[in-house]
Amino acid sequence: MTFEYSQEFAKKQDQLDPLNSFRDKFHIPKMNGEEVVYLTGNSLGLQPKNVATYINQELEDWKNLGVEGHFHAKRPWMPYHEFFSESLAKLVGASPTEVVAMGSLTNNLHLLMVSFYRPAGKRNKIICEAKAFPSDQYALASQARFHGFEASDVIVEIAPRAGEHIIRKEAILAKIEEVGDELALLMIGGVNYYTGQVHDMKTITAAAKKVGAFVGWDLAHAMGNVEVNLHDWDIDFAAWCTYKYLNAGPGATAGLFVHKKHHGDANMPRFEGWWGHEKESRFKMPDKFVPMNSAEAWQLSNAPVFAMAPQRASLDIFDETTFEQRREKAVKLSGYLEFVLDEIAKKNNANFEIITPRNWEERGSQLSVFLHGQGRELFDKLMAAGVIADWREPNVIRMAPVPLYNSFEDVYRFGQKLESTLK
Ligand SMILES: *Cc1c(COP(=O)(O)O)cnc(C)c1O
Repeated sequence: MTFEYSQEFAKKQDQLDPLNSFRDKFHIPKMNGEEVVYLTGNSLGLQPKNVATYINQELEDWKNLGVEGHFHAKRPWMPYHEFFSESLAKLVGASPTEVVAMGSLTNNLHLLMVSFYRPAGKRNKIICEAKAFPSDQYALASQARFHGFEASDVIVEIAPRAGEHIIRKEAILAKIEEVGDELALLMIGGVNYYTGQVHDMKTITAAAKKVGAFVGWDLAHAMGNVEVNLHDWDIDFAAWCTYKYLNAGPGATAGLFVHKKHHGDANMPRFEGWWGHEKESRFKMPDKFVPMNSAEAWQLSNAPVFAMAPQRASLDIFDETTFEQRREKAVKLSGYLEFVLDEIAKKNNANFEIITPRNWEERGSQLSVFLHGQGRELFDKLMAAGVIADWREPNVIRMAPVPLYNSFEDVYRFGQKLESTLK
């Protein structure tokens, strides 16, 4: 499609956008009486307007029913997590029994590695990306040490080539070949948090399975953003947070996926809790743990209802749209942002290096821009002018135009603010 850097063009695109009305389902923060240009939905998604209704419902039910709310609340608290499975399953290409809303991302990664990082003999290596999100690095390193290794002895990192920002698929496939039957686990972020690069999860998974490893993906930046087919791609496990593209609020309850073929195995190493126990006999309080025949077996505790209610509100909005609608708009919107950045760089003789892949198939809703010759000062001025984006050292601005609530006019307004900041 051909873009134009003009308000008229942006407005026209908004009129033509089938998701245009969805913006009104969210609270858009304001600064000096004006809606900000919010480009950090990859960090904390905006609040759906119906969140308050969902939380108030739980407050009312608690107030009026007390403990009976476990059975008689509008959405009974006892099976509360079950109200999320169908919507989540749709987002990750799984069946509802393969996913569960629970815990937090890093917690869940640990619980899953208890099951899926099982070093035995020389098969003890973990392949991950270099400079993974710090929490993932700490989780992997501490899992290695937990098994008595020095982290550096078993963790094999894959970095971009010198002078490049993204990790080439060929480099990952070659490393999998090289580590071969020493590979116990491959765990990478499906979408890189820094560059926004989308990995070819299907191909990489198949290669790692071929050498006999378990495969897990961290979907923090993939969930609600790009296409994922966890079941069909034969991925063993995955985990995600829900406060980024899923708009479930700060620290919201996260979620995980375990492939069906691993369900119901009582011998699988697992850290156990009562909510993972088969539900028919859970309240008979038996001595011996019998796992749920589903991803729910990884649950430890009963559902934190207040930390989950906002997510139900947000999933309602996702359920009203299709992946194709969201994807089509995401591609156009990030393409428009890319176009506007290139135009402004040309016009102002600035060097903005877009380190996210230029190929739309290798990216989701995020563009990361390396500001050569500009610095933190430019970013601070942009923020003061009403643009909320995300700064990463050394010199990168991450921006995520999100299809559910960002508009083409947002991108145009961003361009205007950037230009006046440059002057
Ligand atoms: C956002 C993010 C996290 C955050 O972890 P929490 O446990 O939710 O605090 C972890 N890993 C990646 C890759 C992320 O993008």
